[in-house]
Amino acid sequence: MKKPVYLDYAATTPVDPAVADEMIKYLTPDGFFGNPASRSHGFGWQAEAAVESARSQVASLIHADPREIVWTSGATESDNLAIKGAVAGRENAHLITSTIEHKAVVDTCKWLELQGVEVTWLEPGSDGRIEPDQVFSALKPETVLVSLMLVNNELGCVTDIASIGAELRSRGVLFHVDAAQAAGKLPIDVTSMPVDLMSLSGHKVYGPKGVGALYVRRSADVRIAAQIHGGGHERGMRSGTLPTHQITGMGKALAIAEASLEEEITQLENLRASFMAGLNELSGVTLNGSQTHRVPGIINLSFEGVEAESLILGLRSLAVSSGSACASAAVEPSYVLRGIGLSDELAHRALRFSIGRFTTPEEMAFASAQIVDVVTRLRAVR
Ligand SMILES: *Cc1c(COP(=O)(O)O)cnc(C)c1O
Repeated sequence: MKKPVYLDYAATTPVDPAVADEMIKYLTPDGFFGNPASRSHGFGWQAEAAVESARSQVASLIHADPREIVWTSGATESDNLAIKGAVAGRENAHLITSTIEHKAVVDTCKWLELQGVEVTWLEPGSDGRIEPDQVFSALKPETVLVSLMLVNNELGCVTDIASIGAELRSRGVLFHVDAAQAAGKLPIDVTSMPVDLMSLSGHKVYGPKGVGALYVRRSADVRIAAQIHGGGHERGMRSGTLPTHQITGMGKALAIAEASLEEEITQLENLRASFMAGLNELSGVTLNGSQTHRVPGIINLSFEGVEAESLILGLRSLAVSSGSACASAAVEPSYVLRGIGLSDELAHRALRFSIGRFTTPEEMAFASAQIVDVVTRLRAVR
């Protein structure tokens, strides 16, 4: 059977073959398999040098200092470390976040709420963006941290992090940004985008799963408490033997992302345009989220009169995501789509198509033809 066309790059990306080639060098007896924390022999020194070179590659993508990068197991852990670590030991702490953050942020904040931390949940407009004024008017003297994502994983919309960050910096409030969906999709520069903590993930940018990073701005004002204790790795912020192969894989992946950023944005814009043009003959297609502030690779569409679940069944030759979490019996509509004000009915009609580095024009043409076909058929039998 022919493999379906992969249109779920926002869920995960394949590892770039150049990244896999890099990773394999750090595993086997003839490779650099040493423990990067081993100080007494060359096996350790070589592994440590590789880890530090990858740290520079990750730092370079976001214009940070390598000493500001802490390795983690992924963006989920980075989000947990940033938020729990910033709040730890603070009395009467107040947090600000939004209702359409990734679960790694939403559930961390909900857990802190149960521990007595006060949380303000901002609601975005129908474009999926949080406006700077919403953040500023929610600030209190007790506000410790604001956590907002740069690019939303379901909608692809981009929030104005630079404006929010500038104001928060002047008011002395910490700012955490989940940039897992932004890395490799738009330029990120922590020198012009004032944030204190930023989460990154390897597997959303053609690196391996199970590795991520947290940018922690070097400043006496930015202190986060470790959430995993042990050997005191990563300047005490995150203990555990560093997975050299994962880390060098993420470093290589982000170096490729930095070098090919502009070219890739253009490629994805062209693919998106041809995909949308291919859908032109269908009426009743809505692009969910901001029409202008968005990354090209994430396309969330609702099809009038067609349930996403039926559409997915009809589109078996495409690997896409409905954003709905199937609980045993009931299908829950996505909390993100509900969060931007879509009715249950409209949220049930949304599908996310996400494209990336290995998507071809032929695949896009095939995908749009399939969608036109299946949507037309489903509408006819209504
Ligand atoms: C994928 C994703 C995460 C989780 O990252 P992992 O590395 O899989 O833990 C967090 N935030 C956003 C926005 C994501 O897209």
